[in-house]
This record gives sequence, structure tokens and C-alpha cells, in this order.
Amino acid sequence: MLLEKERIAVVEYGKRLITSGLTKGTGGNVSMINREQGLFAMSPSGMDYFSIEPEQVAVLDLEGNWIDAPCKPSTEHALHRLLYRDRPELGAVIHAHTDYATAISCLRQPLPALHYLIALAGYEVPCAEYATFGTVQLAENVVAAMRGTRAVLLANHGMIAGAATLSAAFKIVEEIEYCAKLYCIVRAMGEVPSILPREEIEKHFVLFRSYGKPEE
Ligand SMILES: [Zn+2]
Repeated sequence: MLLEKERIAVVEYGKRLITSGLTKGTGGNVSMINREQGLFAMSPSGMDYFSIEPEQVAVLDLEGNWIDAPCKPSTEHALHRLLYRDRPELGAVIHAHTDYATAISCLRQPLPALHYLIALAGYEVPCAEYATFGTVQLAENVVAAMRGTRAVLLANHGMIAGAATLSAAFKIVEEIEYCAKLYCIVRAMGEVPSILPREEIEKHFVLFRSYGKPEE
């Protein structure tokens, strides 16, 4: 089977999105790229994550051709594809409709550095401009907002993260959702959180790089 390892991993991480409570139903999507072959495995559209078999995961190339797609790939395949084209260091991308990050995305503001874990993504988590789901415009907005970071919010929609591996991308989704939850709690207290300075976050880029390899 073409991209067998990647297809199996996409199925596994789709299930993890549900079991971890990071997404519900058929929300969100998962992909993993094989750079040598120039192909990526993309979770199928509108399917229960627990009923997906690896052979039902679609394989696409970076021009958008469906190379092996017994089931329709996720409607957000352009989002993943344009990120892989723009960011050669990315090996995996996860998009999810997590509760708290999506709530903040409705403010159309970045998630600021109120906790050091934000450094897994960057100095902050920017918010990409709104566009209808599944469109190339949304993909372009996300690519632009994600320069210099590994996660962004999608205005009134959700969040997305990319990293060298699926486990690293998943960890970013989990921890950014945690930071988003903290932000919502602090704002619900009627307060504005203190934000960590850039130099402090910068220290963590180094610390996170030397920890947990090969997660970068
Ligand atoms: Zn979505």
C-alpha cells in the first residue's frame, strides 16, 4: 500500500483527537507527508475516526492531485498541502476544533504568551484571517499567518498546528489548547493576564529543542 506507514499514523492520530477530547464527531483533520515521495496522507472527509481503515486515507501530491483516494480526502486538503509547500520542515499537520482555542478565534485576536508552553508554537499563536472552510483562500490566510510559528487560530473556526512529526504536532495542539483554556479562565475572571516577555519565551525555544527529540 502506498504510504502505508503514514496512512496508519493518520488513522491512529485521528482516534487520539477524539479520545483526548480535542475534537468531536468528524471535526478536524490529520495529515502526514513523505518528503522523499512528495506525497502526503490525508484523513478522509466526514468519516468517523474509529471506522477509518488505513487504505481509506487519501494520498495526494503537492500539486493537489489525488493519487490514491478511495474515499474523498478532507475538505481542508488544500490547507495541509499549501502548508507543506511553504514549510519544508513540516512533516505532519493537525487541524482541530478545540473548545477554547476556537472560542479565542472568535475574538480574531492572537493567543498571547501567558504560559511558557506557548513557546512550543512560537512567541504567540496568531489568528489567520477568516475565509470559508475548505477554500484555497483559507489555506493562503493560514500559510501567511503561520510564518514564524507552528500553530495558528483560524478565525471563527478552530486551530491548526504543524511540526516535524505527528506526535510533535499533536503535542502542540494539546498544549496550545491548554494555554487557550487558561486564557479563557483568566478573562472570565474579568482580568487581563500578564504576558511573558519575548526574551523569556525565546529561552524556551532552546529548551524545547533539546528536549524530547525527534520532536524538534
Ligand atoms: Zn475545520
